[in-house]
Amino acid sequence: MSNWLADWVADQLRSGAARRSAPAGVGGDAMYVYGSIGVDAALTSTGDIWVGTYDFDTVEGTAATVTWHRAVGLERLGFIVIAARRFPVLGGLLPARPANAAGCPACRATGDWHLFSADRKESLRIRGMICKTCGGLGWQS
Ligand SMILES: [Zn+2]
Repeated sequence: MSNWLADWVADQLRSGAARRSAPAGVGGDAMYVYGSIGVDAALTSTGDIWVGTYDFDTVEGTAATVTWHRAVGLERLGFIVIAARRFPVLGGLLPARPANAAGCPACRATGDWHLFSADRKESLRIRGMICKTCGGLGWQS
C-alpha cells in the first residue's frame, strides 16, 4: 500500500474531517468511515477495514461491549464503497473494472442492495445498503 493513504488518513484526523477510531490490536491511524446502530467501520492507514459490532445485551441496556474484526473480501469492499461515497479519494482503493466484467445481476449493476419479488420481475432498490453479491462495485469479474 502506497503512502498516500496514510498521509490522507492522518490529514483527515488532523483536520477533524474524520473521527479517530482505535480498534483493539490495530497499530497506526484509523478513522471512522461508517457508523450505524450497532455497527462501526474504521479504515486504517494501510487500507484495512475493521468492523466493530456492539453488543447491547446488558441488563441496563446502556453499556455496550464492542468486538472488532478485520473485514475481508466483499465485506471490506462494501465498506470502502460506502466510504468512497463520502470520501471520493478512497475510490482509489477499489479494484479497477476489467473490460470483460459483467454487470452484477443481484443489484442490476448499481451496487445498491435490491430486494426482488418472488418472480424477480420487480425490485426495490435500497440506497445506502451495499449489494452483498458484488460488494457494491456493480460488477463481477
Ligand atoms: Zn451487485
